Amino acid sequence: MPIQILSPQLANQIAAGEVVERPASVVKELVENSLDAGANRIQIDIENGGASLIRVRDNGFGIPKAELALALARHATSKISHIDDLDAILSLGFRGEALASISSVSRLTLTSRTQEQSEAWQVYAQGLEMETTVKPASHPVGTTVEVENLFFNTPARRKFLRSDKTEFAHIDEVIRRIALAKSAIAFTLTHNGKVVRQYRSALDDAQKLKRVAAICGDDFIRHALQIQWKHEDLHLSGWVASPTFYRAQNDLNYSYVNGRMVRDKVINHTIRQAYAEYLGNEQYPAFVLFLDLNPNEVDVNVHPTKHEVRFHQSRLIHDFICQGIINALSSEQAELFAAQT
Ligand code: ADP
Ligand code: MG
Repeated sequence: MPIQILSPQLANQIAAGEVVERPASVVKELVENSLDAGANRIQIDIENGGASLIRVRDNGFGIPKAELALALARHATSKISHIDDLDAILSLGFRGEALASISSVSRLTLTSRTQEQSEAWQVYAQGLEMETTVKPASHPVGTTVEVENLFFNTPARRKFLRSDKTEFAHIDEVIRRIALAKSAIAFTLTHNGKVVRQYRSALDDAQKLKRVAAICGDDFIRHALQIQWKHEDLHLSGWVASPTFYRAQNDLNYSYVNGRMVRDKVINHTIRQAYAEYLGNEQYPAFVLFLDLNPNEVDVNVHPTKHEVRFHQSRLIHDFICQGIINALSSEQAELFAAQT
């Protein structure tokens, strides 16, 4: 075969292999878009573990009619415009590939209305065919993205879908992870028409603690030591469980960098080290930790899923987190905190 440039749709499908692993990855991308759009209410409806339907509806600022079709195009984003913007990313998205990738392996309908428009508009794309005509629709200010028949045109990937129950469990975990970090936002998650999670907007500390308890369990909160640790531009906050509340599996580990959920080696290694003198081999610490730092101190453009980050001064970050946790673990806070709750 001679060398040829792939069609945009085929390029999207290949890119989708990196971003869209399973229904839960679609949910993550869509909810992050809603958050970037300033929504404070997000509803996620799932049918059959996401294989037949994923619908995310928000009350964010919407997409203007003229930009609707563009939102589905690859490398189309409203979040960065210059290479330097990458040094100070505050939005969750910036690569402009989620909607293009998802629509190339599903049937995607995008309906949106901005504050300035008196009516809503809709575009849809189905696999390799993109219907770029924009149709009038009915929708309040905000956006709804509907993803039907995920992987219908990529049977090899569809085969990798697990049972509805398993896929939904992954979706549920994505929502829990996001809801922990975005306590001011109200989330509703339904599966096959039944409400499975409902998190009301939490504005004060007591309500925030309630949300953490709803997600991590009352037991976690009872054993949690609160962290507020600062050094220059670095800020570590959240909760670490006292070592008596260790887990037999590494299943209660939530870490965030500038509000973005991450699975970072430096952070995970640091936390293990901070607990080293308390925990044995098969014992895992439970924690919810938020690291905030100057966005130009961290590179989030490491992988398309943006789960990994790279710190410019990883040694400094390591020492900072480690000290913060050791300080919390060795303090008398445990009783104090338990007494309050
Ligand atoms: P990215 O988030 O990296 O910019 P996406 O493919 O996820 O790329 O989205 C493309 C663009 O579509 C976004 O930059 C944004 O302008 C618009 N968009 C997507 N979802 C929403 C939403 N829920 N509300 C408002 N705008 C949205
Ligand atoms: Mg996005």
